[in-house]
Amino acid sequence: MPFNLCLAEREALGLRRRLPAIDKVTGRQLFSADKCYLNFAGNDYLGFSLAPELIKAADAAAREFGVGAVASPLVVGYQAIHRQLESELADWLGLEAVMLFSSGFSANQAVIKALLTKEHLLWQDRLNHASLQEAGMLSPARMRRFAHNDMAQLAKQLKPKAGLIVSEGVFSMDGDQGDWQGLSALSDQTNNWLMIDDAHGLGVLGKQGRGTLSEQGVAADKVHIHMGTFGKALGVSGAFIGGSQLLIDYLHNHARSYVYSTHLPPPQAAAILAAVRLAQTADEQREQLQARIQQFRAGAANLPLQLLLSNTAIQPLLLGKELVGDEQATLNLSNRLREQGFWVGAIRPPTVPKGSSRLRITLSAAHSQTDIAALLQALQESVRSEA
Ligand SMILES: *Cc1c(COP(=O)(O)O)cnc(C)c1O
Repeated sequence: MPFNLCLAEREALGLRRRLPAIDKVTGRQLFSADKCYLNFAGNDYLGFSLAPELIKAADAAAREFGVGAVASPLVVGYQAIHRQLESELADWLGLEAVMLFSSGFSANQAVIKALLTKEHLLWQDRLNHASLQEAGMLSPARMRRFAHNDMAQLAKQLKPKAGLIVSEGVFSMDGDQGDWQGLSALSDQTNNWLMIDDAHGLGVLGKQGRGTLSEQGVAADKVHIHMGTFGKALGVSGAFIGGSQLLIDYLHNHARSYVYSTHLPPPQAAAILAAVRLAQTADEQREQLQARIQQFRAGAANLPLQLLLSNTAIQPLLLGKELVGDEQATLNLSNRLREQGFWVGAIRPPTVPKGSSRLRITLSAAHSQTDIAALLQALQESVRSEA
């Protein structure tokens, strides 16, 4: 056999992954093997995955346009529903133009591969998502990683007019925000382009849910490439790249995972369009989410666990003292919670750096105050029995 398919090493390190058999999942609940759990592992921050507006839109679009896009966008797959979605998305976010992708992973790969040559430099925050890190590794550009949110270190690495700086709005495993005032100042000073991956900020942060830049008071035109996904707070799936018309026209020609891939199914585009409309008026859901975050943080501060500095729906918890970042102990804790009916992800390397395994607790507007109180209680009991 020309390939080494052995997983024994990962198994021995407690790092082997297995697909959980989920029967059905929503922002709040999860069903598996005839048991019901409270779901604290998803990204449905506003509870949109079950919103009647989205379901109705998908249903109507399936009847009107069919369930498939029939072709890639440059052939005949780019239809009225896609144009409508692009137009409203661009208006919402204050962008000149946007284009749709099937996934955030492919959007990130497409942009970095289409723009950067071996003459360019690519600067990435060390904690950027795997899709960005991998795109950088596959690209012929020289990649430099700077310590998480360390603007002084980035400033030292930067060369004028040499390439692209990429960071995230809200970091997916830590829940803290990128320093967008700092990043945009450095981009200005050095004449380098700036790209934001706002997968976890879109819909949740900023005025009308416009995302991290709006939250931090950074004008959209300070950032040359905007990326966001529809699979997190917007409750569907898919992604977009936004920026100048010039950039989008270029990507229509050079983004290979766009050109050579079937376009988004019309029911999906219609559901995303409904989500874009709903997100702009979802202040109540955003307030509800904030209240749950505050409640969780206040309670978790009393636990013998390490709570990271995050004011978003992503609330990582590391074990305390000598067990900080321990893979097996983190897994044990998440199993203990599961036995009590709480589904919480144990995030281990290589998703996070070695020695920083954690519970990644995600909160949603769909959770009730009672749900959070029950989670805190279960954490307290599980930690006690683990110690
Ligand atoms: C989820 C995520 C992606 C990938 O998006 P998909 O649409 O799920 O492929 C990219 N970047 C970040 C920061 C993410 O959290």
